[in-house]
Amino acid sequence: MNTFQDLGLQDNLLQAINDLGFTKPSEVQDKAIPILLNSETDLVALAQTGTGKTAAFGFPMLQKINMDSRTTQGLILSPTRELCLQITNEMKLYGKYCKGLNVVAIYGGASITEQAREVKRGAQIIVATPGRMKDMISRRLVDISKIEYSVLDEADEMLNMGFYEDITSILSHTPDDKSTWLFSATMPKEVAAIAKKFMYDPEEITVGQKNVGSKNVSHEYYLVNSRDRYQALKRLADANPDIFSVVFCRTKRDTQKVAEQLIEDGYNAGALHGDLSQNQRDLVMKSFRNKQIQMLVATDVAARGIDVDDITHVINYQLPDEIETYTHRSGRTGRAGKTGVSMVIVSKSEVRKIKSIERIIKKQFVKKDIPDGTMICEIQLMSLANKVHNTEINHEIDKHLISINELFEDTSKDELIKKFFSVEFTRFYNYYQKARNLNVSDNGRDESSSSSTRYFINVGRKDGYDWMSLKDFLREVLELGKDDVFKVETKDSFSFFNTEPEHQQKVLDFFTDFKYNGRYVNVEISENRSRNRKRDGRRGGGKRDDKRSDKHSGSRRNSSKRSNKKVKRSNSGNFGASRPRRSRR
Ligand code: ADP
Ligand code: MG
Repeated sequence: MNTFQDLGLQDNLLQAINDLGFTKPSEVQDKAIPILLNSETDLVALAQTGTGKTAAFGFPMLQKINMDSRTTQGLILSPTRELCLQITNEMKLYGKYCKGLNVVAIYGGASITEQAREVKRGAQIIVATPGRMKDMISRRLVDISKIEYSVLDEADEMLNMGFYEDITSILSHTPDDKSTWLFSATMPKEVAAIAKKFMYDPEEITVGQKNVGSKNVSHEYYLVNSRDRYQALKRLADANPDIFSVVFCRTKRDTQKVAEQLIEDGYNAGALHGDLSQNQRDLVMKSFRNKQIQMLVATDVAARGIDVDDITHVINYQLPDEIETYTHRSGRTGRAGKTGVSMVIVSKSEVRKIKSIERIIKKQFVKKDIPDGTMICEIQLMSLANKVHNTEINHEIDKHLISINELFEDTSKDELIKKFFSVEFTRFYNYYQKARNLNVSDNGRDESSSSSTRYFINVGRKDGYDWMSLKDFLREVLELGKDDVFKVETKDSFSFFNTEPEHQQKVLDFFTDFKYNGRYVNVEISENRSRNRKRDGRRGGGKRDDKRSDKHSGSRRNSSKRSNKKVKRSNSGNFGASRPRRSRR
C-alpha cells in the first residue's frame, strides 16, 4: 500500500493530512489520487459511503487549482445541504495550509445574497447543491464559465432525488474542456447515462464490490408482529445502553410519531424529515452530532446528508420500499474503520424481502431474538455499575460525608450497593418483569408458551376463584404436584392455566364430564391447539379457537400495556427504558 507521499501530494497537503491523523490512504484515495494528479482526465469512481471519497477528489483538486487566482476553478455538486456543508468543511481542513484558498458553500434555505457575497470575494472552489446552484446561475450571481474541475459527488443520490435536469443545466454553463469526476456508491443506468453524456473517455475505478455494503457492518433481523414494532424498538435500544443510532421509517408521519413516542418515553431521540424547517433540522443534526440525541429517527431522503462517523446502529424500523435503499441506510454505520450493526424489525410478511436484500448486499442476515426483560435488566444493571465505577468523584460531596456516613452506620457494603442500585433499578425491573416475549417464530405464533400446554377453563372470578385458589383446586382434582400447574390467570367468567405437555391427556380426560356446582366444567387447549392444527394443515375447524385465543391474548396484551404505561410515567428520568436527557455527555 502506498503512503500519501507516494501518491504525489505536495507538502502543504501532507501536513494537513498529518494534522487530520490520516496515516494511510484508503483504497479509493490510493486509486484515484494518482490518476487525478497525473492526467487531465474524466473519472468515474464507484465506492461505498464512508470510504473516503471526499479526500479522493479533494486533495487532487486542491493541488491543481491556482490559489493566486480568485477565479472559480472547481465546482463540487452534492445532493444535500448537509453533505454540502460537510464537504466544504473537509475541503477547508484539507486546504488549511493552502494560502489564499477560499471554499464557499452554496445551498438552499440560507441567504442567497450572503452566499453571492462570499462568492464575489473570490472562491476558487464552490461546493453546491444543484437546486440553489441553478438558481444562482440564472440570477447571474456566480460565474462558472472558467471551471476546470467539476465533481459530481454521490451521483446516484443526486439522480435519485430528481436533480437530473438541474445538473444538466448547470453543466451546460461550464466549459467543455473541463475534467469531470463522478463519485457514486452505485451505478444505476441513470448514472451511466450522465457519464455518457458529460464525460469523455473516463477512467474507471471500483472499490470493493459494486453495490455491496461495508464489510464492517453486520446485518440482523428481528421477527415480530407488526403491532409490536415500537416495543421491539425500545427493547433494542434498552439492550444497547450506549446506542448512537439512526432509526429509519418509511414516511414522514411515522418518523415524527416514533420520535415523539420515544421522547415521551424518556429516550434521547429526535426526528429528521422534510416537513421540518431548515432551522429545526439544523438543531436536530447539531444535537445528534453532539450525541445529545442517541436515536435519530429519519426518513431516507432526510438522512441522505447524515455523515456522522461513530453511529453504532442503524435500525430499520420499517424496511424501505425500494430494497436498494437498504444499502444506503446500512452504510450510515460501520464507517471510518469502525464496526456497526444494521438491524431490521420485520413482520412475517416481510421476511422474503430479507432474502432479496441478502442477494443485493451479498451478505447473510442473522436472525436474532428481541431480548427478554431479564436480559435487558442484566445489561442495564451492568451498564449502570460500569458507569458508577467510571464516574469521577465530585468532591462537593465531601462536606456532607459525615452525616451520610451516620445514616449508613449500620449498613454493610453489600447492602449499601444493593440499596444504591435499587434506586435506579427497581422501577426498571418492574417495567420489564411482566414484559411479553415479542418474538414470533417462523410459523407465526408467540413463542412464550411454546413448550407447555395452555388451557382454557370456563370458571373464573364469578365462581369465586382467584389465581391461587384456582391453582389449588386444579392441583387437587388432578392430583398434580406443586409446580405442575402454572401461569394461572383468572378472568371474570373463564380462566387460563398451563401444564407440561405430559399432563395434557390427564387434564383433558379428567374434565370430559366433570360437574361443579351442578355445571359442566369445560377445559380446552387454548393456543397450542390452533398452532398444532395449522401445522397439520387442518385449518378448517380451528377457526373458532383461533379467534378466541386471539381475543384472549388480546386482553392480556391490553393489561400489560396499561401497566407499562403506568411505569413509563413514573419511570421518566431513569436509565434504560427512560434515560436522562443528557446522559451521554
Ligand atoms: P465518503 O464520501 O466516501 O462517504 P468521507 O470522505 O466522508 O467518505 O470519509 C469518511 C470518513 O473517513 C471521514 O470522517 C474522513 O475524515 C475519514 N477519512 C477519509 N480518509 C481517511 C484516511 N485515509 N484515513 C483515515 N480516515 C479517513
Ligand atoms: Mg462523501
